[in-house]
Amino acid sequence: MKRNITITEYDEDYMGIFFGFYSNDKISIRKDLSKAAKKHIIFHELTHSQKMFESKLLSELYANWVAFMASPIGGIIVVFKTITSPKRLKYYKNLIFK
Ligand SMILES: [Zn+2]
Repeated sequence: MKRNITITEYDEDYMGIFFGFYSNDKISIRKDLSKAAKKHIIFHELTHSQKMFESKLLSELYANWVAFMASPIGGIIVVFKTITSPKRLKYYKNLIFK
């Protein structure tokens, strides 16, 4: 199936704690990230666009794995930016341990 997925960059005010998200064939991504981080995030969100899992947790784990394969350096940057952000840490902790 052929699909057109658009990628649009937004600033932090719009994105909140998220670096990227996917909805209705549109990927939104934080403008100020490095090229490697953006590549990692885009692969992560493209993986979500496949909607392979019902489970949010499995979906996140799989998207992270695919994105790490596509851009390991971007992944390290994203992990570092997450563990140094209390707001992001809190969000992902709630997602995993709900
Ligand atoms: Zn995700």
